[in-house]
Amino acid sequence: MSPSHQLPKNYDIEEVERRWQSTWRDEDNYFNPDSQKPRFIIDTPPPYPTGNFHIGNALNWCYIDFIARYKRMRGFNVMFPQGWDCHGLPTEVKVEETYGITKNDVPREKFREMCRDLTIGNIEKMRTTMRRLGFSTDWSHEYITMLPEYYKKTQASFLQMLKAGDIYQSEHPVNFCTRCETAIAFAEVNYVPRTTTLNYFDFDGIEIATTRPELLAACVAVAVHPDDERYHGMKGRRLAVPIFEHEVPVIEDVAVDPGFGSGAVMICTFGDKTDVYWWKQHHLDLRKAIDRQGVMTAAAGPYAGMSSEACRKAILHDMEEAGILKRQEELEQRVGTCWRCKTPIEILSERQWFVRVHRDDILDAAKKISWTPEHMFSRMENWANSMEWDWCISRQRIFATPIPVWFCTTCGEVVLPAEADLPIDPTVDKPRVPCPRCGGSDFIGEKDVLDTWMDSSISVLHVTGWDGSGKPPLFPAQIRPQGHDIIRTWAFYTILRAKALVGGHPWDEILVNGMVLGEDGFKMSKSRSNIIAPEEIVGQYGADALRQWGAGGAAIGSDIMFNWNDVVAASRFQTKLWNIFRFVMGHLDKETGEPAPVTELIDRWLLVRLSETVAEVTAAMEGYQFDRALKAIREFAWNTLADDYVEIVKGRLYADDSSRASACSALRTTMDVLCRLLAPIIPHFAEECYHNLAARSVHTETWPDFAYADDEARRHGDLLVKTVAELRRYKHDKGMALNAPLGHVMIYASEPVDDAGDAGRALAADARWSAGTPRLEEVVSGVNFNMAIIGPTLRKQARGFMEAVQALPPELLKNPPAIVTIGDEEIPVPPGSFTPKVAYRVAGEEVDVLTLGDVIVTIGHSS
Ligand SMILES: [Zn+2]
Ligand SMILES: [Zn+2]
Repeated sequence: MSPSHQLPKNYDIEEVERRWQSTWRDEDNYFNPDSQKPRFIIDTPPPYPTGNFHIGNALNWCYIDFIARYKRMRGFNVMFPQGWDCHGLPTEVKVEETYGITKNDVPREKFREMCRDLTIGNIEKMRTTMRRLGFSTDWSHEYITMLPEYYKKTQASFLQMLKAGDIYQSEHPVNFCTRCETAIAFAEVNYVPRTTTLNYFDFDGIEIATTRPELLAACVAVAVHPDDERYHGMKGRRLAVPIFEHEVPVIEDVAVDPGFGSGAVMICTFGDKTDVYWWKQHHLDLRKAIDRQGVMTAAAGPYAGMSSEACRKAILHDMEEAGILKRQEELEQRVGTCWRCKTPIEILSERQWFVRVHRDDILDAAKKISWTPEHMFSRMENWANSMEWDWCISRQRIFATPIPVWFCTTCGEVVLPAEADLPIDPTVDKPRVPCPRCGGSDFIGEKDVLDTWMDSSISVLHVTGWDGSGKPPLFPAQIRPQGHDIIRTWAFYTILRAKALVGGHPWDEILVNGMVLGEDGFKMSKSRSNIIAPEEIVGQYGADALRQWGAGGAAIGSDIMFNWNDVVAASRFQTKLWNIFRFVMGHLDKETGEPAPVTELIDRWLLVRLSETVAEVTAAMEGYQFDRALKAIREFAWNTLADDYVEIVKGRLYADDSSRASACSALRTTMDVLCRLLAPIIPHFAEECYHNLAARSVHTETWPDFAYADDEARRHGDLLVKTVAELRRYKHDKGMALNAPLGHVMIYASEPVDDAGDAGRALAADARWSAGTPRLEEVVSGVNFNMAIIGPTLRKQARGFMEAVQALPPELLKNPPAIVTIGDEEIPVPPGSFTPKVAYRVAGEEVDVLTLGDVIVTIGHSS
């Protein structure tokens, strides 16, 4: 134990945090596969390596670290892995920008290598931030999805689901981003409002309204509602498509809204999801007018080669020339956009790979998981119930896990690699055996690659020890922490994949966190310039202040608005704690030998309150209510310990009294327990204090199992605290210094209280407790007038009335007469016009009297 004179007056955040970060060893946080302890495996989110560990990540990881540290202290064998979800478009785009190329300018393998290099650098930057935030990550369980040891598992999972019939390929309409030039899943489509133009034109005698005239070349039918009188008898008639002149049938469908436009709609392949529905229902033709780059195809005749935007303008122009464009009006609509680049999506019919969505199986598994907060389950349920199409998993990109199949050029057979040969790149590697169907030996490798969610949706299998087949030895994981923004993707896909590959639900629990909003209440974005970087906070206030902000900001699942004031308050709390700690250590240093028993009232009271705090914080941590845990710790440290206890016990600590040892024991226990309660949330601060106190690491200690019940101490201690506080306020109101002598104070309570002289020392008074009632003698010493009544009621007589009242004998002041006499005039006494001023005496000494509930305190004036 270091003597307190070595404790610096100021807590140097930067120095302390850096020192502990370089002292702590990674090995101390490793999951131990041989341990007999119950295991607690966390299926942590693998972030996208942008190189920038943002504040939203920081919040998410704070929660994870609180849990990991708490569970370790509770005796669990914790696995807190760190993954990196590397593949995807943003990295491809960044590489293209950096080197001034497009992905097709260099060989595929060269392009992948450039993406990998960029990713490795970005991961390192993010690791640095994570270490600075003090996360107790298990770096021996780090995984990187772009590396062969991981993506061979992604490929194995693909092959298994393909063999089981859960993956198939099909030509089917899919959401397609023409800027990213790839199919995307429904979960990646964001619907945003926009204003567009609704164009009314003559369609072979019928008026049609469309927002997308460029799709006219892809028109395959005109639909009307069967009950729409205007189109009675039209069904089956064939109409000529304006400009293009191909003929399409009129069909009837109840899904047509007769109230929209003219009640007749054109069906194109494909303008939106409804077109897909009608196209399937009525077995219509397929006309592809837009290609993967968003360029008009040969089917668009004279418009071929134009961008869809240019085509729209040209067709509207030509309609106007032809005199068939009737009118145009503005329309508010919701349009599906690519979640990565915000380009409006097209629906294109393409050969793609799909994962079958067994909705009921997924929901059954989701129900076996405990959701915190509970209402997040319904987000999953709503999403599952809204799914109409299977999950499209093929992407037309490069930096991703290759789809491990070949096609036989002779017979078209799909040829698969042996699982032992994984990972493979079918565009480079060749099958080891001839085509099983025709014996041919000429193959084309699948060029499409897998959706990134195919990599990350097996994270739980990976961390629980999956080797590519069967049930992973540590499956299921205990908890999945993640943001509510990826319930319909990461959570949904993980449950789907765990069910399909292992047959069970992936985790016992899922904990859903909110998003961090900027100080202006909006989502952080470059365009709003409201982004706060974790490094900025840590640089000024340290990691522990940021962590405290994360713990206290909001209930889990709720969005948090970032606020510098919260960080400042967090940092102030640490200063306060440090001052308390220094004060306590200064007194503990004088102790010698074994800790003494805790005997005195307020010391026992402190332990009762500490015990209640431990119970509250433990319950909060068990329920992942970090805001509640932090609040309980703050209230105890700031109010109970610093304001109430220390103010009372100070005098005894400075006194050379035998009862001093009891206070030191209570304080030692309290600081020990407090450090442990703080350890998960502010690990650096807790470590610094605990090392000074116990010369050991707090992070190898157990969670405090501290219970202390003493009803009498609880009751009497509360009385003492309340009495001392009231008397200090009394001093303040009288303009007295807090250490000014107060004379002799009697505290009359219903039970005898033995405060070891603490009240007297705290108040600089001769304070005594009595179980009796004071023999108060009441003396009327004057009168208080209520001018609000006297003024308006008596007007000019007021002055005479007041003189007459002052002249009354004391007993009449207490029991006012009905009238008073002024000269020879009798004036009725207005009710409530005055009250007597009362003073008290005890045994002849004049005293002030305070009443605090059942307790009466008398303060003698003569000392
Ligand atoms: Zn896009
Ligand atoms: Zn073949």
